Amino acid sequence: MSDEFHTGGCLCGAVRYEIRARCLQTTVCHCEDCRKASGAPFVAWSFFPTGSLIWTRGNPKLLLHAERERAFCGECGSPLTFFDPAIPDLFEANTNSLDNPSGYPPADQCWLCDELAWTPHVSALPRFDQSAPLPEVGPP
Ligand SMILES: [Zn+2]
Ligand SMILES: [Zn+2]
Repeated sequence: MSDEFHTGGCLCGAVRYEIRARCLQTTVCHCEDCRKASGAPFVAWSFFPTGSLIWTRGNPKLLLHAERERAFCGECGSPLTFFDPAIPDLFEANTNSLDNPSGYPPADQCWLCDELAWTPHVSALPRFDQSAPLPEVGPP
C-alpha cells in the first residue's frame, strides 16, 4: 500500500472505500459526539483531502448532526467518515475503519474538555491477551 492509496470499510463488509491521497493528519477525539456516535471512549481519525474517497462497495448512511455529516454502515453501524462543512477542504476517515489502522498512529488528542474521567487510567489497568476473567454469577 502506498502513502497515497488507502482502503477501508465497515465490520460486516457491506460498505468499502478507497482513498487516493496522502494522509494529512491524525488525531484522537474525545468529544461527546464522537463518543456517542461510536460507542467508544474516544475515536481515532485520519484526515484526507475532500473528494479523495470513493465508495467501492455499497453506500453508507449519512447522519447530519450538529451541522456535521457522519457516514456509517446502515447494516452493521460501523462509523466510517466525518465531514464538517465549516472545514470544507478536509474530511476524516475513522482510523479503525481503515484496513491497516496501526499504520495511522495518532499525532495528538483533541476535545479533552469532553474526556471521560477514567480514560487516562486505561493504560494502567490489568491486561489480558484475550478475554478478561468474567465475574461469577451466583444462584438467583
Ligand atoms: Zn457494515
Ligand atoms: Zn469528536
